[in-house]
Amino acid sequence: MRKMGLRDLDLAGKRVLMRVDFNVPLDKDGAIADDTRIRASLPSIRHVLDAGARLVLMSHLGRPKGKVVPEMSLRPVADRLAELLPSPVRFADDTVGESARSQASRQKPGETLLLENLRFAKAETDNDPVFSRELAAFGDVYVNDAFGTAHRAHASTVGVASFLAPACAGLLMETELHNLGLLLQAPPRPFTAILGGAKVQGKVEVIEHLLDTVDTLLLGGGMIFTFFKVHGLGVGDSLVDLESLEVAERILAKAETSRAKLVLPQDVVIADDFSGEAARREVLVTDIPDGWQGLDIGPRTIVRFRDTIDASRAVFWNGPVGVFEIPAFAGGTRAIGEAVAAATDRGAHSVVGGGDSVSAVNQLGLADRITHISTGGGASLEFMAGCRLPGVEALTGA
Ligand code: AMP
Repeated sequence: MRKMGLRDLDLAGKRVLMRVDFNVPLDKDGAIADDTRIRASLPSIRHVLDAGARLVLMSHLGRPKGKVVPEMSLRPVADRLAELLPSPVRFADDTVGESARSQASRQKPGETLLLENLRFAKAETDNDPVFSRELAAFGDVYVNDAFGTAHRAHASTVGVASFLAPACAGLLMETELHNLGLLLQAPPRPFTAILGGAKVQGKVEVIEHLLDTVDTLLLGGGMIFTFFKVHGLGVGDSLVDLESLEVAERILAKAETSRAKLVLPQDVVIADDFSGEAARREVLVTDIPDGWQGLDIGPRTIVRFRDTIDASRAVFWNGPVGVFEIPAFAGGTRAIGEAVAAATDRGAHSVVGGGDSVSAVNQLGLADRITHISTGGGASLEFMAGCRLPGVEALTGA
């Protein structure tokens, strides 16, 4: 069902309470290391302010686990936001307390107030109804623009919507739902998914669902060795997710009869240590010696994967196919990124999700050549696994 969006509402004179994802990475000195998430929220923020509404923003940052952790304060984010917006940005020292209420009461139309880190209160992750109602009191309208937390049923993503209507999707949320929704419901074909990353855990449901929906599923990254282990191959010192051996076996069995063709690498780049200085070789996956570990996909696999991506009209990519943080093992991820970008240049619909594959795409300078870069790693995986996201379900239907 289509959800009500920001553009469906007349916001003039209204108080808008908006959940955003300002969970930015901080460096050692507490400065914002990357403001991509703040910038990603700007279209919705500007839309609300330009309409003459008062805007109250709420977000989490890090995992303070219900305690006030000064290093996880959103104050640096408020300062950054103030640099990006032409109008004043206020900051509250608490979330629903006196500071927040007094700042809100002094707010003028076109002004922004950012509340302190939602997760300083355990009530947020508990989806506590009292806390939800206190949050709801800051708005006449609720907007959720935080796709990255839409798979969590928290007070700010779900609870608040029972006390405040209408509850609508922000512009970023709409873009996410449109681009991922297209892949889920009516993907142009052939549709290829590429999954990488370290572990099988956390990806089982999406792999199973993709086996029913895509035409080809390409697997890379550390997780492949768990599958090779099931095949009885020697994997040396490669990463093996021992707890996932059974599910890996189940996935391989399902792949026998599923719509999708499941493709595992034929060859890998191995090293005698997890380091850029280690000795390095390219071998078939059947020839990994003891004491060596697989850290990237090999050249034959790159050709095989590239051919599939070249012929695709829709691509979903989550997770690097090698240890791309070390240049010696970044070749596979670079080749995949370039192939996805080239397919997009030829008109394919491409979506990249997940923190690591997104940073790979950014590092490679390919971001502009991808149809959509998802801001939600876990949320995009759950969405592509066919799960309903509680934060989306809670929104008012259009
Ligand atoms: P995930 O959080 O599961 O998406 O995993 C991302 C991480 O997987 C990245 O930091 C990669 O360095 C890592 N990775 C990719 N390929 C391998 C591999 N062959 N062995 C170990 N780690 C890997």
